[in-house]
Amino acid sequence: MKRDIYKSKIFYTEHRILTEFNAYIKCYESLVEVNELFLKVILDNPWWKRRYPNIKTVFLYDGGRNGQCAWAEKNAIYLPSDFRNQLHILHELSHVICCHIYDNYGFHEGVYAIHGSEFVDIYRALIKKFMGTPVHKRFTEIIEEYKIIYKLERRAE
Ligand SMILES: [Zn+2]
Repeated sequence: MKRDIYKSKIFYTEHRILTEFNAYIKCYESLVEVNELFLKVILDNPWWKRRYPNIKTVFLYDGGRNGQCAWAEKNAIYLPSDFRNQLHILHELSHVICCHIYDNYGFHEGVYAIHGSEFVDIYRALIKKFMGTPVHKRFTEIIEEYKIIYKLERRAE
């Protein structure tokens, strides 16, 4: 596994975004709400279906590896109550996407970091699409401030 150099920078970025956009970012009371009000909307979106035709279902579970942390696998997201907000949900969905796109020939050969540029590129696109321009703009400013490299060769949008 490639060293996960951006992990804490992403954590700080999210903390700042959640603080600055506190009134704007939606939080959900339960996993049913996460599913009905956010996840389903994303998976049904034509943009999503065009980009990720193979990701049709993502299961939601309470708690992560140790019950405290959010976590993602190829078709599942683990979301303890503190992480049921739009930003953290998109973070975990980005891992789901990375698992589909890169897992087989990437992570296990040390090519990609868990929170590397490929992850950040996908995360930014999801933020822009599902949280809107103000959050996307600020997120980009903060990751640039932290010198996170996120620009990849552009795929067809
Ligand atoms: Zn993560």
